[in-house]
Amino acid sequence: MKAESQKTANSGQGIGPLILLGPPGGGKGTQAKRVVDRYGVPQVSTGDLLRDHVARRTELGGKAKAFMERGELVPDELLYGMVSERLEQSDAARGFILDGFPRTVAQAEWLDGWLADHSQVGRPLVINVEVGYNELIKRLTGRRSCPTCGRIYNVATNPPRVAEVCDVDGSRLVTRKDDREEVIAERLREYERQTLPLLDYYGGQGRLHEVDGSQPASEVAAAVQERIEHGDRV
Ligand code: AMP
Repeated sequence: MKAESQKTANSGQGIGPLILLGPPGGGKGTQAKRVVDRYGVPQVSTGDLLRDHVARRTELGGKAKAFMERGELVPDELLYGMVSERLEQSDAARGFILDGFPRTVAQAEWLDGWLADHSQVGRPLVINVEVGYNELIKRLTGRRSCPTCGRIYNVATNPPRVAEVCDVDGSRLVTRKDDREEVIAERLREYERQTLPLLDYYGGQGRLHEVDGSQPASEVAAAVQERIEHGDRV
């Protein structure tokens, strides 16, 4: 079946909440966009939502900016209102992909409470996209994104057709401020300290599905799709 007809075939089907875990730069955002295209449910990226608040100079953006520029996690309490407001929008009723949230055990506990209060969205599926340290550094330093459509490229592994220009809309690609090497190191430390314990949290609940994120993006996507269509939701 061609991609377009598959999208049509699947677009009426809700997939419920999907939680994508994995280190920064491990490909969660790229995979989330593929799930969006295939199933027509929104990607909810707390990083994107926060960057939007910073760009719009909201009160939340003002509080979050310094943490983000240092590569540190934004305090949990700042996120919950922003996340619940987004998840309650009508486009998320058939499901959504959480990309970059939860990132701490406290956030995961908060999310469990939110999902229990909104049981109509269904049981969550948790997928960990695992990638080794050296591969991550390579991917993060080569990452570029389109400021207009959000598409993500990598100068080494997934370059645009014309260097530094978006294939879709011709915008000049940008490197995120926090993709500089010293900030990357801090983001990876934060991941190990705060986010790795989530694997035990979800593993202990029997909810964790593992996918090898070091494979080419299309193979990772096939593995993610297999879990979405056949994985257990506990
Ligand atoms: P990301 O685009 O997911 O890598 O997020 C970029 C930055 O936004 C992170 O380095 C954090 O400073 C902040 N951020 C995004 N999501 C979260 C979260 N769930 N908890 C705390 N901080 C977050």
